[in-house]
Amino acid sequence: MTSPAPGSSSTRVRFAPSPTGMFHVGGARSALFNWAVAKQQGGTFVLRIEDTDASRNQPEWVDGILSAMEALGIRKDDPAFEGPYYQSENAGIQKDAAQRLFTEGKAYYCDCTRDALIARTGNQQTGYDGFCRDRGLEYAEGRALRFRTPDEGETQVVDLIRGTPTFPNANLEDFVIARGNGSPVFLLANVVDDIDENITLVMRAEEHLPNTPKQQLLWEALGHTPPQWAHMPVIVNEKRQKLSKRRDKVALEDYLAEGILPDAMVNYLMLLGWAPGNDEEILPFDELVRRFRVEDINSSSAFFDVKKLTAFNGEYIRALSVEDFAAACAPWLRAPAAPWAPDQFDQKVFDAVAPLAHSRVALLSEITNNVDFLFLDAPIIDEDSWNKAMKTGAAGLLTDVRAALADVAWEAEALKDTVTTVGEAHGMKLGKAQAPVRVAVTGRRIGLPLFESLEVLGRERTLVRIDAALARLVQAATPSDAEVPATAE
Ligand code: GLU
Repeated sequence: MTSPAPGSSSTRVRFAPSPTGMFHVGGARSALFNWAVAKQQGGTFVLRIEDTDASRNQPEWVDGILSAMEALGIRKDDPAFEGPYYQSENAGIQKDAAQRLFTEGKAYYCDCTRDALIARTGNQQTGYDGFCRDRGLEYAEGRALRFRTPDEGETQVVDLIRGTPTFPNANLEDFVIARGNGSPVFLLANVVDDIDENITLVMRAEEHLPNTPKQQLLWEALGHTPPQWAHMPVIVNEKRQKLSKRRDKVALEDYLAEGILPDAMVNYLMLLGWAPGNDEEILPFDELVRRFRVEDINSSSAFFDVKKLTAFNGEYIRALSVEDFAAACAPWLRAPAAPWAPDQFDQKVFDAVAPLAHSRVALLSEITNNVDFLFLDAPIIDEDSWNKAMKTGAAGLLTDVRAALADVAWEAEALKDTVTTVGEAHGMKLGKAQAPVRVAVTGRRIGLPLFESLEVLGRERTLVRIDAALARLVQAATPSDAEVPATAE
């Protein structure tokens, strides 16, 4: 199947984030699902930044949204992409819409305070009681504009994911559409923008479902046929709690910074609430797009499984060529935070071990711990590894390994044979015998295959490290001055 040309269908979807914080993985999922619909149907994806909450918006969050779109492969230069539009730029038409609803008698001004409402109803939790409905108030500073909801009947929201949630109109209070200073509230601004941008499908987070009957009434009151709706399931952590930025790692950027590949992230996010079928999960984006159906999105909550995401990432890393893997590692290898100084890094040395690391790391950020021993003058000794590996017998073994390594052909197979033979002489199997060597040379008990690593490190540096480890072992075995009991004068 070839994809329909962009703009060949009237389908128009949108992603409408508010720039109030780091870009959330839930937002990324919303963006991708909408993007998938636009791409599949030859429709248009509108990016609209809902920047009307001036107290919470920061320009850097807008930049975060734009760079997140790039990372997700939602590119501005794609013919299916439109925008970004900014909600604040539509303030004029949003106010006009509010004014029109007032003029047509579909909205009314209200000067009730919250205290007055509670005093009248005796209920702290109450919705608005309609007190000002027929008072005929004109606009004055401080008066809110309320939408007159129908008293009877019901509002049916046709939702592609949730069937037809039905809301009795009697339960819908006359809600505010413009504040006392005349500025339109989110509910209205969001609808006016969707109408202005000819949106045909509003697919967004489930938390907006309770707003939907009110928004649908606004669409109708403004003389437009409401769009199709689709409310995506909430995303939860392993305790089935809604993912929250206070509790969970939710920023897309944080996942990318630790070395989740963008393609792996996109693939994983596409499966949050939807499955491509045939028990297949890892698929190219074009194929996910081809199979995507909004109607197949699950309405129950979707578990954000970091372990599964990491496993996906491992698979995506394995699917890269070694050259692409090495290139993808570059930001970590060349980062100021890398454990070595920039001039200690040697690309040729890295390229020599890249095939070994390629089959092992699940996150690109793990690369530095795997290769730091190659670039540092001395390895960073992990004390826990040291204590486990440097048991009784380690010093004797290392002494003999050192002697044997001094003149063996410097090549992985021969190095392995040497350590095997010395180990046997000490009554140790290879697995046990290589542990002290590994810790002496790399600083850790776990890492890249040892003998290939030694081959790359070279004889001289290997022997210096074994000597340093032996010196430490000898020193630990000799009581220091402080530990010698003081003799009586
Ligand atoms: N700006 C809203 C949000 O970030 C989205 C509203 C919508 O998609 O309709 O939650």
